[in-house]
Amino acid sequence: MKLVIDQNLCKGCNLCTMVCPYNIFQEGSELNKKGIVVPVLDRPERCTNCRLANLYGRRLCGVCQLTCPDQAIKWVEEEPYESMKVVIEY
Ligand code: SF4
Ligand code: SF4
Repeated sequence: MKLVIDQNLCKGCNLCTMVCPYNIFQEGSELNKKGIVVPVLDRPERCTNCRLANLYGRRLCGVCQLTCPDQAIKWVEEEPYESMKVVIEY
């Protein structure tokens, strides 16, 4: 699973940057299309939910999601790994 912030719902309050025990949410620096500075994710694969929720079949932390007032934080399924195709042209 992969942690994502919904750019359409986030209002840039930065509450998520205060609660993650791994400091995965960091204050952003660039305005998005709506004029909001959305936090950025620092190595989100460190999140316990990203790594282990599928294995255990349940949400392991989720404090950021519980804290977000706009339900902008979610986990999405990742595409299965596909090896890169290399095309060699002669
Ligand atoms: S679920 Fe927990 S560890 Fe993962 S990003 Fe949210 S607060 Fe951090
Ligand atoms: S808590 Fe939610 S609304 Fe606030 S900055 Fe984080 S993702 Fe955006």
